[in-house]
Amino acid sequence: MAADTPAPYYAASAEEIALFEHCHAQELAVMIKGPTGCGKTRFVEHMAWRLDRPLITVACHDDLSVSDLVGRFLVRDDTTVWQDGPLTRAVREGAICYLDEIVEARQDTVVVIHSLTDHRRLLPIDKTGETLTAAPGFQLVVSYNPGYQHALKDFKPSTRQRFVALEFDFPTFERETEIVAYEADVPRATAHGLVELAWRMRRLEDRGLAEVPSTRLLVATARLIACGVEARQACRVALIAPLTDDPEVAGALADLVDVAL
Ligand code: ADP
Repeated sequence: MAADTPAPYYAASAEEIALFEHCHAQELAVMIKGPTGCGKTRFVEHMAWRLDRPLITVACHDDLSVSDLVGRFLVRDDTTVWQDGPLTRAVREGAICYLDEIVEARQDTVVVIHSLTDHRRLLPIDKTGETLTAAPGFQLVVSYNPGYQHALKDFKPSTRQRFVALEFDFPTFERETEIVAYEADVPRATAHGLVELAWRMRRLEDRGLAEVPSTRLLVATARLIACGVEARQACRVALIAPLTDDPEVAGALADLVDVAL
């Protein structure tokens, strides 16, 4: 554990901490599946702290190139210098490299991780002709939201079979209440009310909501309430508006807020 920094707060839900530790010890890559805002990133931050490894995070997007991950030559003062990308840095330093929302990245970019996920743990750098062997402690972790899956952005079986998959979901009612109270520093009763509201909203999933309210949105709402914003207004701007542009759906959610608060 990193002695000089406090642990990132993480409320565990099952065996995920022990499983991740085993994967790290066995040099297995990990895929964390679960909805947006359910604690995947916080979990990885917590595990990097527990394992005392640096954490290098990359938010994946469809323009992400192999050079963005591996590195590129840059011209500086008339000379060309090589600059490592985040994946290469993690490989050299023995860090945990977290590729957030990996399905957003193009398949031709994703294949660069393949040789790192087999027993050789190699990273070939075509542009310099180097092949790096991952330093001890290096681990590849990716996150993936199965709800976003569609024809163009599928997570290819040839890639996903290289990972151990940990399945995440929103916390239990009790744990979510504890998280919101802790993260936003609000009384338990306030957190309880918001979580109750979120659970009602989550039941509306089939009625026009592309995504249900996440723990992240609840924490944001509670933070606004903690600094004096009136509860209904906080719910409107931090819980409802981020979820929908549809006035009818927003109206239905606002009705739930009126009943709950
Ligand atoms: P994502 O699944 O999108 O990576 P995050 O890990 O960023 O979600 O979680 C969003 C926020 O929700 C965190 O910043 C934290 O405030 C809160 N959160 C969610 N789950 C947990 C948890 N199990 N323990 C502590 N905080 C959590």
